[in-house]
Amino acid sequence: MKTMTCKELGGACDQKLSAESWDEMVTTMTKHVMEKHPDVAKEMEKMHNEDPQKWGKEMKPKWEATSND
Ligand SMILES: [Zn+2]
Repeated sequence: MKTMTCKELGGACDQKLSAESWDEMVTTMTKHVMEKHPDVAKEMEKMHNEDPQKWGKEMKPKWEATSND
């Protein structure tokens, strides 16, 4: 299990998000952003439409650098 903050993942608050895998973290973060930061969600959607790889390319190394709880 790894824990990262919303902010580390490109979000807007310091809420801690935990997941067992990167895929799960993407799902968790997406859900969190859609619930709490609709404006950030819109930005991420725009980024995804322009370059679907971009967010993951920036955020996945941070996930990998985070140690297990
Ligand atoms: Zn947040």
